[in-house]
Amino acid sequence: MRISVKPNTCQGHARCYALAPEIFQLDDAGYILPDDIEVPAGQEALAQRGVRSCPERALFVADQPEVG
Ligand code: SF4
Repeated sequence: MRISVKPNTCQGHARCYALAPEIFQLDDAGYILPDDIEVPAGQEALAQRGVRSCPERALFVADQPEVG
């Protein structure tokens, strides 16, 4: 499972990081790092929750169509 990031959309709420800091890594200013995220096996459900937690919709699962 891979997560893509829209770094220009991220507003630095850090909700993704609060849920799963080992998956969603932020820069020193609190914004998500722009690279795609390869989710480790077994952490897909947590990663999905992180994606849904983002109020800016800056995160989306790369192999699924974007909703909304
Ligand atoms: S929850 Fe969304 S807006 Fe907040 S840091 Fe994560 S990606 Fe950025």
